[in-house]
Amino acid sequence: MPLFEYACRHCASSFEEIRKFEERLSAPACPTCGSRETVLRLSAPGYVGVGAASAAAFCDAPGGCCGGACRN
Ligand SMILES: [Zn+2]
Repeated sequence: MPLFEYACRHCASSFEEIRKFEERLSAPACPTCGSRETVLRLSAPGYVGVGAASAAAFCDAPGGCCGGACRN
């Protein structure tokens, strides 16, 4: 399973989680503070400079992550 990087909105820490690709958008609990206010961080080159919050909002859009652009 792929490794995804998440950021916690509550304590601002980041952490990595191994999970199924299709489960990447279900927020894992933060290992530091236990908050589930965590967002998937996109590390693809095309998303450099995009804030974690806006990237997550983009990926939560109906129709799929990034409009399908980052599914591959
Ligand atoms: Zn946290």
